[in-house]
Amino acid sequence: MHIEFYGATSGVTGSCHILRANGETILLDCGLIQGRREEIEKNRRPFPFAPDELSAVVLSHGHIDHSGRIPLLVKRGYQGPIYAQNATADLCDILLQDSAYLQEKDAQYENKWRTRKKKPLIEPLYTVDDARDALANVIGLRYREKKEILPGIQIRYQDAGHILGSCSVEVWLNENGSERKVVFSGDLGQYDTPILNDPAVIESADHVIVESTYGNRLHRDRQATIDEIGEIISEAAHNKGNLLIPAFSIGRTQELLYYLGKHYDEWELDRWHVFLDSPMAIRASKVYWDYPHLYDEEATKLRSRVNEMPHLKNLRLTPTPQESMAINQIKSGAIIISASGMLTGGRIVHHLKNNVSRSGAHIMIVGYQANGTMGRALVDGAPTVKIHGKEYKVKAHVHTVGGLSAHADADDLMRWVRNFKSNPQVHVVHGETEAKREFRDRLENELHLQARVPQPGDMLEL
Ligand SMILES: [Zn+2]
Repeated sequence: MHIEFYGATSGVTGSCHILRANGETILLDCGLIQGRREEIEKNRRPFPFAPDELSAVVLSHGHIDHSGRIPLLVKRGYQGPIYAQNATADLCDILLQDSAYLQEKDAQYENKWRTRKKKPLIEPLYTVDDARDALANVIGLRYREKKEILPGIQIRYQDAGHILGSCSVEVWLNENGSERKVVFSGDLGQYDTPILNDPAVIESADHVIVESTYGNRLHRDRQATIDEIGEIISEAAHNKGNLLIPAFSIGRTQELLYYLGKHYDEWELDRWHVFLDSPMAIRASKVYWDYPHLYDEEATKLRSRVNEMPHLKNLRLTPTPQESMAINQIKSGAIIISASGMLTGGRIVHHLKNNVSRSGAHIMIVGYQANGTMGRALVDGAPTVKIHGKEYKVKAHVHTVGGLSAHADADDLMRWVRNFKSNPQVHVVHGETEAKREFRDRLENELHLQARVPQPGDMLEL
């Protein structure tokens, strides 16, 4: 029996690990590698295992850096089952088809200049049809349902509190009369994330594979963050402009809508029209509101009181381009939540173009902004931004709100690992080098656990 570590051992994307026992091979996650061009190119390389030798794929959650190469795996010959928590399966239906659509668009764009330069054309990494083939093999499971997926191998999903349907995975491996238990954390959420339950307590494992995205950082206090959002809304109301909120379609958008509903009176939101202007976020929100049995206590109470989610009287969904363009006419009193979260594309860019040079407008940044993105330029105080080839002066007020991360911080991660009573060996993955090292040191020094940082391709006997 052994584990092999592949993706997300150097960096935070492309999550993928292998478990082998009793003649079976299980793949934990199969994420897309994201980042700079040369990183993205790595997705085209052969997998470090043969797709057709796999017996099962077990997915922790829907995010593309954990699920995004599954259509490629199927395209390259994998025909077996893909296990996912039920809500994750529904979110994957949206995410993987969208990812495939973007792959097709990218290839079309690239092939335009390749045709001009008489260079060989490229194929998309995978197509919408490949994504659909993969989705047909997805088998949904409930939380806490123990299931024998292969002879001698059982799995059980536990809530990871990161996005809807996110899981930590317990895996029991049996071979020649001996048993080993491996727990894979998936991505863990913060302990007081709205809507979702806290990460579940798991007490036993021989080996734990744990993420460390924020393994060396602490988040700002959540209440301070919520207070700040209230203040920004009040300031924007005073300036009589629009308020733009670029947000990731899955997780962050629903969290924002929840807060707006919860603080509706306190933040005097009846003065505003709230627009959710992203087809993908609208679809993802429907999945969120369709799974009330996965909510935490507060969201369950709120839902039973209002019988609809989110509880936001003046929310308008604008799925069509016409409805979206109609928002352009509004110069004051609109809260516009739209994607992409880093302003790298999508409808939010059009709203930015219309509002960025208005001194009464406000832009609230609520998520991580990578280097080189428009969102990052705004956060860094750029005096002008270039949109669709034209320079615009930044006169709108830009606010950066920290503290809404979907990821556990270092103390949250410690709290999750501290629940194990079985003195497991811990393998720290899914973080930048420093984050992994510092988190490993804390595990050794504070919890006296045997902890290590595996290198890509490392293999470990269980
Ligand atoms: Zn994630």
